[in-house]
Amino acid sequence: MNTPLIDPFARAIRYLRVSVTDRCDFRCVYCMSESMTFLPKKDLLTLEELDRMCSTFIRLGVKKLRITGGEPLVRRDIMTFFRAMTQHLDTGDLDEMTLTTNGSQLAKYADDLFAAGVRRVNVSLDTLNDDKFARITRWGRLPQVLRGIEAAQKAGLRVKINTVALKGFNEDELFTLTDWCARHNMDLTFIEVMPMGDIGNEDRIGQYWSLKDLQAQLATRFTVADLPDNTGGPARYVRLKETGQRIGFITPLSHNFCESCNRVRITCTGEIYTCLGQDGHADLRAPLRSSESDATLENAIRAAIALKPKGHDFDYSRQTVDGRVNRHMNHTGG
Ligand code: SAM
Ligand code: SF4
Repeated sequence: MNTPLIDPFARAIRYLRVSVTDRCDFRCVYCMSESMTFLPKKDLLTLEELDRMCSTFIRLGVKKLRITGGEPLVRRDIMTFFRAMTQHLDTGDLDEMTLTTNGSQLAKYADDLFAAGVRRVNVSLDTLNDDKFARITRWGRLPQVLRGIEAAQKAGLRVKINTVALKGFNEDELFTLTDWCARHNMDLTFIEVMPMGDIGNEDRIGQYWSLKDLQAQLATRFTVADLPDNTGGPARYVRLKETGQRIGFITPLSHNFCESCNRVRITCTGEIYTCLGQDGHADLRAPLRSSESDATLENAIRAAIALKPKGHDFDYSRQTVDGRVNRHMNHTGG
């Protein structure tokens, strides 16, 4: 039997997030600049290599897989990869396979995703206003995403909405978004905007809407009950008594979640990032390509996990963006 992956701080690695492409059909202003240069195809892991990479992690004890990007559903033939992962769900080696998507292709793929064993999806949506949606995503159109969400629910997928909290942009939609999610039986998670990558002229500090303030606003209308955090991740959860909804808060800047971190990330080029908030990473593509046996890859994975840092250093408390990292969010996936 394989020894499981344990990092130097005694955290067992059970959760793998895989970015399957850096490309996207949107250009969200906090995520990408309008003129992004994407990676040449030869640099990407092939679908077969993604399968081998994920299967190796699963053999080493990963129980939960989240597929992300870029926009995962714009990668050509991506369903082949989802279907390859179904075997691990069938054997029980993998507990769950989920995905984070902008929703644009969900109408096309919802049934296939369900058939491959996906039961939950996170859809990113920052506003319910057509014009604001077009502004924040630059290239996206809201009706297409709403159709995607509807199709996902119809296919039997449980949908959670992820909303980036942006000062002066969606503050006025707090209750509209909450009510809409409640009506459609969806949980909602708010994300604090993070200082990832150079995205042009956006003002990071001006964008930053503290989720402490957001929660205080929610409490003016709802009875908010804290829920125990059981995801081992950066989210904290509350329940709104009036709607029964679970609301999550991902607060990398105002709340330190690192002590319970059980996850690592793989980029679409096969780099492993053991912390979202640090630039430190290791290449797994060369060891993967160097040998048909997985032993070299396994050793490289173990060596990377042995260097997993204790935590990240994002800090806005001095009114400057300290601890920023240089890569874009679509590189490592959210
Ligand atoms: N394209 C998919 C989507 O939008 O859901 C998956 C990839 S996207 C990079 C994953 C998540 O990261 C999204 O919920 C997005 O809103 C979030 N995100 C992107 N840039 C961010 C930033 N600078 N700060 C906080 N969240 C960010
Ligand atoms: Fe694309 Fe997601 Fe980034 Fe928006 S947040 S540009 S949808 S990868």
